[in-house]
Amino acid sequence: MSPVRLFSTPRFFSRDDLHAYRRAKLLNFWLLIGFLFLARSTARNFIYIGTSLELTVGILWCVLIAVAYYLFRVKHRLDFPAWIGSLSVAWIVGDLSYHSPILAAPLLLLVPLISFSLIGVSSGVALSGVFSVFIIGNLILNPPDVGSATPNAFIYNHLISLILGGGAACYLELGKQKVINTLHDSATKDELTNCWNRYVFLQSLDTEISNALRLKTPFTLVIYDIDHFKKINDKYGHTTGDLVLQEFVEVINKGIRNTDILARWGGEEFVLLLPRTKINEALNICERISEQIRAHNFSIDDSVTTSVGLTAYENNVPSKELIQRADTALYEAKHQGRDCIKVWKPEFETNK
Ligand code: GH3
Ligand code: MG
Ligand code: MG
Repeated sequence: MSPVRLFSTPRFFSRDDLHAYRRAKLLNFWLLIGFLFLARSTARNFIYIGTSLELTVGILWCVLIAVAYYLFRVKHRLDFPAWIGSLSVAWIVGDLSYHSPILAAPLLLLVPLISFSLIGVSSGVALSGVFSVFIIGNLILNPPDVGSATPNAFIYNHLISLILGGGAACYLELGKQKVINTLHDSATKDELTNCWNRYVFLQSLDTEISNALRLKTPFTLVIYDIDHFKKINDKYGHTTGDLVLQEFVEVINKGIRNTDILARWGGEEFVLLLPRTKINEALNICERISEQIRAHNFSIDDSVTTSVGLTAYENNVPSKELIQRADTALYEAKHQGRDCIKVWKPEFETNK
């Protein structure tokens, strides 16, 4: 791998999960900087002081950063490497700010600013708090030789920048997280029903197909279409129709697992991805959900029913073809009088 590529974020962390992507980008940079800085100061220690406790600790920390970097880049782990990254930043900042009163104020800002983004606000507050006590304690016990500045002014300088920096970093981080959550929701959720949108569904379908090819895990794809929904709109109005759509999603959500992906395909059509589920098991789930929909007390006087088409994944069937098959099965369900479930069969294709 070329050194330039080391500075690029691993592709595994895509922009689909903005929180993870942002953490990964920052972590990649700070683990490398941490390693370079500590390797340099450890080498200097060895040249000027020789073997010492500081040298051993320096070497151990460099090894720990290398392990964290491996876990991050190869195993795609974030939490443990993020702690090592944050502690490395605290180490660098502590080292540099002790010797340089002018640089101390801006440098100390880095600890809360980076740790909040890497390990979250509550863990970042804990780390910055312990760091502050350590830094101030060290200044009191070992006042540095800082020329014209008195040790007290030095301590005061550190305290102010830690408190102001910590407060500002906390405020910025919480604001950023709110923006990211809002952006993430509007990019991935259906605004009316709050289930996933088509984009997330297609991404998840691609992931399931590669899992099926790699790990030989089965999965089933389901399409729902509410029966005679136009009549509901005509009889009760569009607003009540919207309410029925929301209630419809609530009923399905109650009957599926957290790992299943329910998405709005468009209008009154919904798609459901059932990972690690064989067709017979999926059929049972769909029968149970259809029964729950029939029995549910919707905000209208009539009962609501749904037609369902489903298909299991078969090797080498591309995602478009799979959706087409579920849709063909749905068409067959409509054709046979609605309020029923059909599993795709090749002969359905000729009935179209
Ligand atoms: P079928 O049993 O064949 O599926 O009949 P249908 O009336 O459900 O099917 P059709 O596709 O003719 O009508 C779907 C209706 O869903 C038409 C459209 O106005 C309505 N619709 C689509 N999106 C929304 C929405 O967001 N809110 C509401 N209230 N209605 C919607
Ligand atoms: Mg429809
Ligand atoms: Mg319909």
